[in-house]
Amino acid sequence: MNIRQKGGAPGIFSLAIHGGAGAFAALKDEMEIAAYHQGLEMALRTGRDILASGGSALDAVEAAVLSMEDNPLFNCGKGSVFNSEGFHEMDASIMDGNTLACGAGAGLKTVRNPIRLARRVMEHSPHVFLAGAGAEEFARLQGLELVAPDYFSVEKRRAQWLEARRNDQIQVDHDSPAVPEKMGTVGAVARDCQGRLAAATSTGGVTNKKFGRVGDSPVIGAGNYADSRTCAVSCTGKGEEFIRIAAAFDVHARMCYQGVSLQQAAETVIHDCLKTGDGGLIAVGHDGTMALSFNTRGMLRGQTDHTGLFRTDIF
Ligand code: ASP
Repeated sequence: MNIRQKGGAPGIFSLAIHGGAGAFAALKDEMEIAAYHQGLEMALRTGRDILASGGSALDAVEAAVLSMEDNPLFNCGKGSVFNSEGFHEMDASIMDGNTLACGAGAGLKTVRNPIRLARRVMEHSPHVFLAGAGAEEFARLQGLELVAPDYFSVEKRRAQWLEARRNDQIQVDHDSPAVPEKMGTVGAVARDCQGRLAAATSTGGVTNKKFGRVGDSPVIGAGNYADSRTCAVSCTGKGEEFIRIAAAFDVHARMCYQGVSLQQAAETVIHDCLKTGDGGLIAVGHDGTMALSFNTRGMLRGQTDHTGLFRTDIF
């Protein structure tokens, strides 16, 4: 299927990213705050450079997310949270708003960059969602880089897990009182110069998760969605809540069926359909507008576009 965008001038591009939403109660240290801004800036620059040189929204969101997967500050790829058994199980998804092609992987243990796997599923398999051992085997056959499970481990995340385990809690990463400076499922949404939209999301999930738990991030329509006629959306927060209301698809549906603006659709989903403290989302519209909404105290986020806008924020 080839979906033509609804409108918006050619030549304009926008990119928004997030690194997780949460309470950030103990994030006070200037150095830590600066490190988050730097991590976001690096991802933003990577995606912006692709869009500014006429590249696709799909390439831009993949590259921005990949930059954060390789940065141990964020809860995805290297730096992912620990599950109840002391390992990492990562989830990711990507969607091309121009064709509605999408790909996702869940429960990944050795794939260095889960977002790459998601894109391979989209482009090199007849399926949209692979999980567990089968997904790992597909990654191997695709020649993606596989690493030892402890590649993803960072000491502070281990402390966060031990604390959660002591309290018998399952914790959304950025609400952790144990290691408040380590946070962030990540996502990116973009509109390219040709009006194509794309969304990508990647996560280690929630600390101390059990039983093969999968959150919203790899679930198309819940944590990630893109349709070039309306918007591209990436969510972060309590995955179960985002799955219950098909949050990302709901932003698209409100624009599509009710004709409301991107901002209105995003605000309604975050403030009316979800509860305070559940999380946030980033979205880009077909015309290049951006909405970054959250019902938590903060959300690590950044935005850039063709006008020279380039900013990152936490609160
Ligand atoms: N939404 C993610 C999940 O539930 C967690 C997060 O955003 O930090 O797996």
